[in-house]
Amino acid sequence: MTQPAAPVRARRSRHTAAPVPVVPPGPSTIDLHTHTNRSDGTESAADLVRAAAAAGVRLLAITDHDTLAGYREVASRLPAALELLPGVEINAIVRDRPELRESEVHIVGLGVDPADAALEATLERQRLGRRRRFATMIERLRAAGIEIAPALGGLVPDEIDSLGRPTIARALIAVGLAGTVEEAFERYLSPGRPGYVPRDGLDPLGAIGAVRDAGGLAVLAHFGEAAERLAVVRGLVDCGLGGLEVYYRTFDAATVRRVGAVARELRLVATGGSDYHGDGRSYADVHAGLWVPAEVGTAVKAALDRPTGSAEPG
Ligand code: AMP
Ligand code: ZN
Ligand code: FE
Ligand code: FE
Repeated sequence: MTQPAAPVRARRSRHTAAPVPVVPPGPSTIDLHTHTNRSDGTESAADLVRAAAAAGVRLLAITDHDTLAGYREVASRLPAALELLPGVEINAIVRDRPELRESEVHIVGLGVDPADAALEATLERQRLGRRRRFATMIERLRAAGIEIAPALGGLVPDEIDSLGRPTIARALIAVGLAGTVEEAFERYLSPGRPGYVPRDGLDPLGAIGAVRDAGGLAVLAHFGEAAERLAVVRGLVDCGLGGLEVYYRTFDAATVRRVGAVARELRLVATGGSDYHGDGRSYADVHAGLWVPAEVGTAVKAALDRPTGSAEPG
């Protein structure tokens, strides 16, 4: 991954037309990207599967950061008519591409074997790194005169397996220093801000390898700049990437088309999901803005049935 960076289309400015939102033609029956309170979401896995089934979802993946605990909690007692795929999101660190946001690409692993011991050991190392970093973030904020420990008392239940910045963001809201999670990131938790601490952990080859070795399909998540940064995507394909998240809830219609064209060109399975985290919004509310076509479910299952769990054959 050493080619020079391609220019990236400006996100949105006064000079560009307003993005055209995706208008779901009906309720999505598929959502392959969600978080629970076992990582940085706010809803329990039990509440999430119940709400998803009630919203019309028939194929769901819980993709918590670096943990399968949420999946394990509910896998044996699902609502009728809901199928749950084991999943995980691994935020992989890209050391040679500082132009990427926070030098990360997010790899969602779908259909990994939840009993795979090697995957579990890898995720445990990731979680340990997250626990250390979480403590350092609290200290950094304290050094900047911001005390969030009392607010965290109620916000970090023992069952949180995998700690992340959104939990710190909620504590900052609780002590009155931010109004929303986004604002807390902007002011305190992004690179250059007083509470920011970089993560250490897997790189893309390690993340994709861990997913594939556990029988899963490795998907590049919410990479709206896929067409402009095709070299990055190709580099990940060389590492074993098998899918691209085309139907991401906050992509506008043009982005869905552009990312979808990349998926076709590179023969990657197009997936999609809400990236639901809770934070005061109900699942039903978020799901209403999600469109993932039914054929995504067929394609993902077909890919998982292939021995390599990788891109399309031929
Ligand atoms: P961490 O895993 O601790 O590095 O935190 C990253 C996670 O925080 C991402 O996976 C998102 O879920 C969330 N996140 C990242 N940036 C923002 C932001 N600007 N506003 C809200 N949530 C964010
Ligand atoms: Zn998250
Ligand atoms: Fe992500
Ligand atoms: Fe996510």
